[in-house]
Amino acid sequence: MATTLTRQEFLKLGAFGAGVLGFSGLGFDMAAATAVKRELRIAGATESHSVCPYCAVGCSLIAYTRRTPDGQTSLLQIEGDPDSPINEGRLCPKGATALDLAVSQRRVEKPLYRAPGSTQWQEISWDDVLDRVARHMKESRDRTFVRTDAKGNVVNRCEGIAFAGGAAFSSEEGYFATKVMRGLGLTHLEQQARV
Ligand code: SF4
Repeated sequence: MATTLTRQEFLKLGAFGAGVLGFSGLGFDMAAATAVKRELRIAGATESHSVCPYCAVGCSLIAYTRRTPDGQTSLLQIEGDPDSPINEGRLCPKGATALDLAVSQRRVEKPLYRAPGSTQWQEISWDDVLDRVARHMKESRDRTFVRTDAKGNVVNRCEGIAFAGGAAFSSEEGYFATKVMRGLGLTHLEQQARV
C-alpha cells in the first residue's frame, strides 16, 4: 500500500534527517544519544494529568510517578502538558518549579518569626502566628480607620492595611478572603497572580 506524506510531515522528516546527518558529520554519536534517552528517569513512569495550583490561568501539568520497592509512590518530575490547548506544554517559572512544592528539602514547613532589628529567624507555633497577626491587624485598623472623607462623606474604610491573596488560592478561598477583608473595611486588595 502506497504511503503518502503531507507537506508538513515531509518537512519534519527532512529536518530530522538533516539534523542526524549534521550531528554525524560533527562526530555526534546517535547510538549514545539513544541510550541516554532510554535511561531517562521518567522512562516507564506513570503519567498523571493535573493542573498547576498557582494561578487562574490553569496550565495543565503531567506528573510522573513510580512505585518504590517499599510500596511508596515517588514523584519524579512535573512538566507542562503538550496536549493542553491552554499552555501547549509550557509553564511559567513558577509553574516550572511545581516539583519543588512537593519534594524540596529547603521548603519552609513551620512558621518563622524575625523580631524587629534581629537578623535571626525563630520557629514559633501557628497559634502564636494567628495571635500576632490578629493583634497587629486590630491595632492597625484602629489607628488608620477613616470614617468620613475630606468632603464629609461617610466612607468607613481602613487605609492602613493592604492584603495580597496567594496565587494558589482556589476561587472559594479568594472569595472568602475578599469578604473578610472587605468586612474589615480594607480597600487595598491585590492578587499575587497579577503582581
Ligand atoms: S502559575 Fe504559571 S504555570 Fe501555573 S497556571 Fe499560572 S501561568 Fe500557568
